[in-house]
Amino acid sequence: MRQAWSGWTADTIWSSVRRTEHLQSRLFAARTPRRSQPGRQPRPLFHLSETPPAGTPGYFVALTFDDGPDPQWTPPLLEVLRRHQACATFFVVGERVRQYPEIAQRIVLAGHALGNHTMRHPRSFAGLPPNRIREEIQHAQDAVIRATGQAPRLFRAPAGNWSRTVLRLADEAGLQPVDWSIDVKDWHAPPARHIFDAMLRSRPGDIVLCHDGGGDRSATITAVQAALPALRGRGLAFTTLKRGFPHSRLDATLAPGLPSVLSR
Ligand SMILES: [Zn+2]
Repeated sequence: MRQAWSGWTADTIWSSVRRTEHLQSRLFAARTPRRSQPGRQPRPLFHLSETPPAGTPGYFVALTFDDGPDPQWTPPLLEVLRRHQACATFFVVGERVRQYPEIAQRIVLAGHALGNHTMRHPRSFAGLPPNRIREEIQHAQDAVIRATGQAPRLFRAPAGNWSRTVLRLADEAGLQPVDWSIDVKDWHAPPARHIFDAMLRSRPGDIVLCHDGGGDRSATITAVQAALPALRGRGLAFTTLKRGFPHSRLDATLAPGLPSVLSR
């Protein structure tokens, strides 16, 4: 059922407040990395510099693709990433994983990371009752495990619709909430050039939001194909996101089999 905008609860307002606070705090994120504190509220990760993984050079960006797997768009995107030896993180929708398990497997086999993006991608996610939120997370988790044998460690709320309850329930499921610092806005189907320009604004540490499902993604694929060599030409490299423990540690790891990226 479609959720109405009566979903403006304290939680969703809090979500907007957090976003504003984040925009302010990002200015200082690189100089003031967060430390793990017992009892600290779980919060989404917006930028790699917030949890710099030990020993990881600071020139990585994390490309993320949401709303797949999609039989039309995910395979050609995987091919573009393979050709350019780039790795990424796919926030997949459980129902689509159940429908296309072999594409989810291909994502994993290619060395990319999978994150949980709920079972049905509900609108106004944070406005759902807690038991529905828990169910959406758990069912997607089960679908990915069944398809790939791997349990996601990352979670992204549909449309970044976070709330205290969403964060707590993701945390209870053992998932690191992940947001983004660059939105290429491919969800409203702009020309490939606009998506490319947005991707080229990436700086070290950025988490870039793109989509490989939920609509015609031909422009996204064209843009990614052009952006990968352009970003690499600026000295950037690509990393997957991988949840580590304890909470505040997020390991940025290279996909296996990418020595040419490592040696840059
Ligand atoms: Zn989504």
